Amino acid sequence: LLLTYEPAKRLARMRVQIEANMVGVRMLFEILDHPIELKEAPDAVDLPAGPGLIRLEQVGFSYRNGPKVLKDMDLSFEPGKVTALVGPSGAGKSTILNLIMRLYDPESGRVTIDGHDISKVTFKSLRRRISYVGQDPFLFAGTIRHNIAIGNEEASESEIVEAAKAASAHGFIMSLPNGYDTDVGENGRNLSGGQKQRITVARAFLRNSEILILDEATSSLDSESEAGIRKAIERLAHGRTTITIAHRLSTVAGADQIVVIEDGQVVEQGPPAELLRNDGAYRRLYTYQLLPDAGPLESLARAAGE
Ligand code: ATP
Repeated sequence: LLLTYEPAKRLARMRVQIEANMVGVRMLFEILDHPIELKEAPDAVDLPAGPGLIRLEQVGFSYRNGPKVLKDMDLSFEPGKVTALVGPSGAGKSTILNLIMRLYDPESGRVTIDGHDISKVTFKSLRRRISYVGQDPFLFAGTIRHNIAIGNEEASESEIVEAAKAASAHGFIMSLPNGYDTDVGENGRNLSGGQKQRITVARAFLRNSEILILDEATSSLDSESEAGIRKAIERLAHGRTTITIAHRLSTVAGADQIVVIEDGQVVEQGPPAELLRNDGAYRRLYTYQLLPDAGPLESLARAAGE
């Protein structure tokens, strides 16, 4: 038992390390001028404004010397629509997001936004088109105002307040003694998880980009704040090309389009109701893997095998 257990544990630890690094890079995506590993093409042009149609065209990808993670993938994300990526752990969902944010370049094929190959555009113009709201809300040392406006330094006070209102953050901010001037502490340690999340949602409202990338939390906040955040995120997604890695039934059921990824390939796609009627991969995930929107009691019952 020890023999099999030890390496598995070591692997799990490695995986946590990888994840932590990626979250770091994605948070920085909003403020960095360029991804860490890539260079901008010398003749790069600005990505022109457009509706935000994203395409993966025959995309093949593996991480450094690793196995193929995406295999000749063709996939479209329609402007103004919410697409939920679902599939087993390690299937390649996060990798798709990484390539769209151009944290890596594909080995073969290309990723386009409104028909433009993203490896040929300036990082700054690409970054401006995309907002990322992740599982681990990241805040920088400084005030709440600064954290909402980050990457958007020319924002006015009223724009910041509007964004906070849209994110259902204005209320709690005003209840703090220093309001928008409150110091969030190191990585937001003076705030609750839900408050931090609201601030990152406000940041995304202020950026107002056509493309929104969401990595849904697996761990739940307290259910009251979670319902509020979910509504705010729904408002945020409205009218944008939204891609979400979904872990919850409600998110998946509310999406316009579901894409099931298994082993680096698209195995099924379509509107949720249609996929439920098929006796396929989505139906199996739906039944066995997605998390219900349960309160603590239901979760406990579920964990205990009901
Ligand atoms: P999960 O639901 O667990 O997040 P996923 O579907 O998002 O899984 P990916 O994170 O895209 O899957 O991972 C696909 C494969 O690539 C996995 O085998 C994973 O271990 C590997 N991988 C992911 N990120 C990296 C990285 N930064 N460096 C090396 N390998 C990676």
